[in-house]
Amino acid sequence: MPLAPYFDKIALSAATVLRGFDRNNFAVALDQHVIAIMFDDRATLTAEGRISLELTVNVCSRLYPKIALQGLERRATQLVPQMEALSRAINPNIELVPTSAATECIVVGDTRTKATATTIYVGSDGWIVRVSQDGPVGCGSTSNPLGAAAAACFGAANIFRAVFSDQLQGATLDRYFQISLIDFDPENSRPHNPWIEDITLGEAHLVGAGAVGNGALWTLARFPEVQGTLHVIDGERVDATNPQRYVLAKYRDEGTWKGVLAKREFSRFESRVEIHPHHMRWGNYLASHAEPWQIEYAAVALDSARDRIAVQAALPAKVVNAWTQAGDLGISRHEFLGNGACLACLYLPDGATKNEDQLVAQAIGLTGREMEVRKLLYTGDPIGSDLLQQIAAALEVPLEPLLPFSGCPLRSFYTEAICGGIVLSLQVPSNNGAKNASVCATAKNPSWRGTEVPMVFQSALAGVLLASVMVADAAGLSGPVGTKTVIDLLKPLGTSLTIPTAKHPSGRCICQDADYQRVFRDRHTSE
Ligand SMILES: [Zn+2]
Repeated sequence: MPLAPYFDKIALSAATVLRGFDRNNFAVALDQHVIAIMFDDRATLTAEGRISLELTVNVCSRLYPKIALQGLERRATQLVPQMEALSRAINPNIELVPTSAATECIVVGDTRTKATATTIYVGSDGWIVRVSQDGPVGCGSTSNPLGAAAAACFGAANIFRAVFSDQLQGATLDRYFQISLIDFDPENSRPHNPWIEDITLGEAHLVGAGAVGNGALWTLARFPEVQGTLHVIDGERVDATNPQRYVLAKYRDEGTWKGVLAKREFSRFESRVEIHPHHMRWGNYLASHAEPWQIEYAAVALDSARDRIAVQAALPAKVVNAWTQAGDLGISRHEFLGNGACLACLYLPDGATKNEDQLVAQAIGLTGREMEVRKLLYTGDPIGSDLLQQIAAALEVPLEPLLPFSGCPLRSFYTEAICGGIVLSLQVPSNNGAKNASVCATAKNPSWRGTEVPMVFQSALAGVLLASVMVADAAGLSGPVGTKTVIDLLKPLGTSLTIPTAKHPSGRCICQDADYQRVFRDRHTSE
């Protein structure tokens, strides 16, 4: 069966959410499902419809080996070749098949489908997302892409729950909901949906252009009313596995700086947001500027606690943070003073967190040899075939496919072979499927952050939510600071999504330190 070139990474992320994960069964299950994406002229001719449609095609093409695209009316039919080209640019191995084979179906627009497959209707109206099993939910006529982009992610999540219902707990589909990305209250019968005219982000920073950052950038690039300057800080290039969940990345983008992906997307849509990519880590970015750093707004799309704390420690006036983890995803809103948590409060280590050398030693099956692992990580010395043999034996995988890593630093082996899913692909599933070797077990353990790889619709939604808060903040419309909004895409939408966050109970966070508070006031209080 034709699998995506980055299938091992897909399998790794699925292993973090599916019970009794078995790589081969997973591949077979994907092969047995055909996801149909159907759309009508309303979806084709409205900006919101096109956003929902394009992101649905984008996300589904990264996960499923077979999809079917069908225009339900004349103008929609004319758009099919363009959507097929998008799909192939993302996954060159994708099979585009007729909708008669569909097992699950996503519909964008006003048209009810006659398909007998499990069907989810998605749509939007400005800030409002709508999802239904019962019938079409329409496409609004605004140029605001936020609700429409989020709707695509919710639709894809519902399809994933339908495909893997046996391996997910409580993963029924959403019957119907509507939710505004301003108030995040699904019980509000009149969801907040303000009209947006020209909005300026001022001079904002997006720290991290990985999977979540990609979701935010994809959406912001398509918002014609938004202008301003956005510094995109990311020191990495796209690797071969990133297209698994980077909605800006095409299959051929390996080696491109992530910040360049951002710039390309904003140019393509003639956005009025000026993108300044900085191909460096946050620390180096700060070091390249004279102190005091006067950062007004930081949108954080990073994946480690340490990096997040480093952003908060530079004392931006306001911080918004997005995350994905095995159980959920969300955004949190922060000021430094006041009662709510600062970003560092949420990520202060509690002392139980394992060191990197412990995590890596565990992942490569060499628990007890942390000192040796630490030295190899620190020095970057090449690893030899002897060590690879010991790792292969410990993880119960054949040595041969690991040998190309002989002579590479341990960190490269860890990033590509463990986090990239190569080792997972080599492991023979046990009889009950639940006893995958150590990397699976560790990937399933939420406390083990090293190999947590979210599904594409989870990362994309976290990014869309981040973009929503950035725009809402710029327009003075955002929810209260000191709160977080949490969504679990592997279950039907909950009712109470936004909760207050408290400062760290230890009293030892930087926001509870008088010196930091004084510096913050000096920097951000205008006299
Ligand atoms: Zn704090």
